[in-house]
Amino acid sequence: MQIIDRESIEILFKALSTKGFDLIGPTVRNGAIIYDHLDSVSQMPVGWTDRQMAGNYRIVRKDNGALFGYVVGPHSWKNFLYPSIQSLWQAKRNGNSFEIIEEEKKVPKFAFIGVRPCDLKAISVHDRVFLEGDFIEPGYKSRRKGLFIIAVNCTEPGGSCFCASMNCGPSVSGSEPFDLALTEVLEKDRHYFVVQTGSEQGKALMQEIPHRPAEKIEIDKGKALLKQAALSMGRVLDTENIKELLYQNLEHPRWEDTARRCLSCANCTMVCPTCFCSTTEDVTDLTGDHAERRRRWDSCFSLDFSYIHGGYIRATVKARYRQWMTHKLASWMDQFGTSGCVGCGRCITWCPVGIDITEEVQAIRGNTA
Ligand code: SF4
Ligand code: SF4
Repeated sequence: MQIIDRESIEILFKALSTKGFDLIGPTVRNGAIIYDHLDSVSQMPVGWTDRQMAGNYRIVRKDNGALFGYVVGPHSWKNFLYPSIQSLWQAKRNGNSFEIIEEEKKVPKFAFIGVRPCDLKAISVHDRVFLEGDFIEPGYKSRRKGLFIIAVNCTEPGGSCFCASMNCGPSVSGSEPFDLALTEVLEKDRHYFVVQTGSEQGKALMQEIPHRPAEKIEIDKGKALLKQAALSMGRVLDTENIKELLYQNLEHPRWEDTARRCLSCANCTMVCPTCFCSTTEDVTDLTGDHAERRRRWDSCFSLDFSYIHGGYIRATVKARYRQWMTHKLASWMDQFGTSGCVGCGRCITWCPVGIDITEEVQAIRGNTA
């Protein structure tokens, strides 16, 4: 373990920029902490934190100077690795026919700043989905290849968080992919980061940043903060036999109850860092001279998503909510060998009617509040 001081974070930014990385990290926009391109530490939400609960999100001042004193907002890193709209091909009219436009696609080289352990796990879930098996997703592969990840352990979980229940946080496990992992420590007269290196690339970058070996007292301080964070999660999800529980309760009356509240708006799937359903659409310009096929995010909550041969497989909201939750917590394990939920809590916070996945599981267990 190493220590870098708060002042050295700017040097870290510069070192990454000099290596040609496009820095992506947290910033305040439209009343939320989102991820966007960063040029300097001053663009980060210094002195801001977030308050989250079911159907509710607010940012508030917390003037302690923390760089990472908040949890996760409506964006996740899939916005960059698997953008919401991607052009698959374009064509232009050439007389009576069309010809494909050869595009030289510039592959961005991202450095993600401040990836929370739950989101790190979500990236590794997407790695399995998009990079393993018979079908590789070329766009994801090219973006993922050059990625530099600076993870940040969570010392202050939010009101909707339950990563500890999912074994996805609040600290990085070491088995997930990261280059550097930071634990932010604020003391009365000191502000520093305990740094763990996770790759050769991470080790090399550390050589360009002023640092020193961590003392035991500093490592222990970081560990104590993480231990406390694990005990102060806003939510808990009982995962015992969860796959069997959901498979055995496909006709539980709770699905009907949830469907009466659910707007089928798809917010939960848009903000979820692991959801990746998409559709393709063909568009032309008004002259008809230019055509494009695009892929865009879709959702199992859209009616059209399950349309085949003149009918909808999941015509009711009940069927769609049940599909989403059962996929996340049960059938994802059969499909990809891991849960589809990392406990980030976004679906709880950003659901306009405050439907809470942890509460739904409890209700199906027969423990309704
Ligand atoms: S299902 Fe909800 S809590 Fe789980 S990863 Fe998706 S958004 Fe986060
Ligand atoms: S659970 Fe909430 S966020 Fe998800 S579709 Fe229903 S109303 Fe929208």
